[in-house]
Amino acid sequence: MTKLNLYLMGLLWLSNLQANLTVEKFFEHLGRETDKLVFYLHGTPKIEHTITPLCDEPEHYRTERFIFHKLSFANDQIRKLLLNNKGYFHNGHHQCYKLQFKQLKNSLELILIYDIRQIKCVQYQSFKAISGFDGLLIQIEHQLVGSQKLIKNNNLAQEITIGIDYGHGGSDHGAIGLSAQPEKIITRQVGFRLKKILKNLGYKIVETCPEDLKMDLDERTYLINFAESVDLLISLHANHAANKDAMGLETFFGDDQLFKKIAQSSFTNLCEVNLLGNLSKKLADTIHKAVLQEVSDNLTHAYELKDRKVRCSAAQILMGVECPAILIELGYLSNAQEAKKLNEPEYQALLANGIAQGIKNYFAK
Ligand SMILES: [Zn+2]
Repeated sequence: MTKLNLYLMGLLWLSNLQANLTVEKFFEHLGRETDKLVFYLHGTPKIEHTITPLCDEPEHYRTERFIFHKLSFANDQIRKLLLNNKGYFHNGHHQCYKLQFKQLKNSLELILIYDIRQIKCVQYQSFKAISGFDGLLIQIEHQLVGSQKLIKNNNLAQEITIGIDYGHGGSDHGAIGLSAQPEKIITRQVGFRLKKILKNLGYKIVETCPEDLKMDLDERTYLINFAESVDLLISLHANHAANKDAMGLETFFGDDQLFKKIAQSSFTNLCEVNLLGNLSKKLADTIHKAVLQEVSDNLTHAYELKDRKVRCSAAQILMGVECPAILIELGYLSNAQEAKKLNEPEYQALLANGIAQGIKNYFAK
């Protein structure tokens, strides 16, 4: 065997060792009931999962180890975020577990150490993420004294808090398209109108970021989950498509059917199926219908808001919040006619009125 052959074989061996899956994005949604770690990957890694009690910890502590084979980081920021320290306890809210990431030679290891008196179960699931990524979700469910109330016993607006998310901000402009203004401005203009209408009706409001600043998706969900009892969330967006003819209203809700269970911790109760899906669907249906109605009742000129239906989505904002939530795409900024409408104050008022009417209808039923 020549030196060259040996060298080539060596290269082949090295390339086989190298990780061929990458973590492109990472989100950490903290909640009162469940914390969700979300990885956006290219491909689905082989996962090795072990549960061991810790010798040097009290007996109610347990360690779960997840080894993601052939996985590494695409993004240096994520690498720093996850590997920069010896592990961390969550900032004040949940002191009952510790996460630790380790980059091994040919894999990524996640070590989760937790108190079984406070953590009910850990499970991991895969899903098809937005923009063609493969998603991996690790859910850490807390033992709860009393479950968060999903539906108010009475429908008094004064006792209901509505979360409004303006979708984008700061350097994150959202869609630009053919509009005079980027998505982040349109969603704020509609959102501020919505806030005013809802306040006049007596509802309390929590906003994710009223100032035009960049805010990560998991920062938004954190704010909503730990704000004083938010009853539902409306995330406002405007759409963009390569097809300039695409137009219309789309409303999304998160649903458990998006997830495929890979495996489950064996020792605890089964995690309950997320109850939010049905309520979020009801909220999406009600608001979608009310917006279409409001526009068709009040627009005199030749413009029809096309019904692009209510659909499921794995959007992070929907996945990360613990209240019924929808993401509404108010129209397409890539369509000339719709972009023009979305910039008109009168049209923005119709959209805001429609959403507010939908919220009233949701609580009235
Ligand atoms: Zn958007």
